[in-house]
Amino acid sequence: MCIVWMKRQGNGLKMELNKRMTEMINENKPCPFCKLEREKILESELSFAIYDGFPVNEGHVLIIPKRHTANYFDLTNEEQSNCFELLNRVKLILQEK
Ligand SMILES: [Zn+2]
Repeated sequence: MCIVWMKRQGNGLKMELNKRMTEMINENKPCPFCKLEREKILESELSFAIYDGFPVNEGHVLIIPKRHTANYFDLTNEEQSNCFELLNRVKLILQEK
């Protein structure tokens, strides 16, 4: 799940993303984010950040919670906060570049 992406896309894409995540969880399919070999920009106990493989602009980053849920709203408050803390830290890193 990608918070930045969800914030930028319309409802149709959000629903499609939710549907696909729910299907993956139900069918025990491997998670594409767990298998990524990409360099992590930052990592915390509950989430990590990577550059998007298909960036729509410079600095397009994915903030990915480590626990699998169908959507952002199924995360605990702590997990949600952790994602946004990471987002703020990544922003500082990108600004220094
Ligand atoms: Zn995963």
